[in-house]
Amino acid sequence: MRLSGKVTIITGAASGIGRATALRFGKEGARVVVCDLNRAGIDQVVSEIVGQGGEAVGHVVNVTDMAEINAMVAAVKAQWGRVDVLVNNAGIVADAQLTKMTEEQFDRVIDINLKGVFNCAKAVVDIMVAQGTGVILNASSVVGLYGNFGQSNYAAAKFGVIGFTKTWAKELGRKGIRSNAVCPGFVATPILKDMPEKVIQSMEERVPLKRLAQPEEIAAVYTFLASDDASYINGAVLSVDGGLVI
Ligand code: NAD
Repeated sequence: MRLSGKVTIITGAASGIGRATALRFGKEGARVVVCDLNRAGIDQVVSEIVGQGGEAVGHVVNVTDMAEINAMVAAVKAQWGRVDVLVNNAGIVADAQLTKMTEEQFDRVIDINLKGVFNCAKAVVDIMVAQGTGVILNASSVVGLYGNFGQSNYAAAKFGVIGFTKTWAKELGRKGIRSNAVCPGFVATPILKDMPEKVIQSMEERVPLKRLAQPEEIAAVYTFLASDDASYINGAVLSVDGGLVI
């Protein structure tokens, strides 16, 4: 098992990539903190992890709410005494072209996808510094490298997440904390539910592997980056996009 005993907080862990990551981390021996807005989804993931012989606890946490995040981190510290890994995975889309995007759409995506990442890192950083060890993994996107039609808000947030990652790699590396970002291409999860079928098909056509990613293929990369096998990887921005942009 690659993550034995590593206390790992995963945001947005009730669905999609976060769910697959929680299940995989559970199999790899991590103590998984399943955080999301969706209580029923949290409970299902926790019981699946426990059912496969792993350890997990669920917390309803909105990544825009600092009080909720701090309460969750305090509960984790009380239960397991440490925080080894934070996977900043929670994210949403609210797409519109610049001509039509509302301020509300812009603010909502920035609040969750960008400020939520800052909030959660802020809540665990002192614990990681005191331990002298820790890993922060941030969900960016291929859109955070190249932009995307109809996604000014999402692209700005995902570019920003790369900025956090490189900054924290510089600030926290000397304190034993590694920070890395993952840039998935298009992954078959509920976040794509409003994307027209013809756009998905054209995406698949553009990828040399001729298919979308499965969430487990992103979870595998988080597993590697959280593990000691990645002990010298810091400040990396890792594309997991099937060769979409080459
Ligand atoms: P998803 O919609 O399946 O899951 C996202 C989860 O985040 C949901 O369970 C949702 O309840 C939760 N969430 C939303 N707002 C939250 C909040 N304020 N606080 C806590 N939890 C919240 O999406 P996914 O495809 O698994 O995406 C996960 C991450 O990966 C996101 O950051 C997304 O931007 C990124 N990503 C996804 C793709 C893709 O194609 N699916 C590609 C690149 C990057």
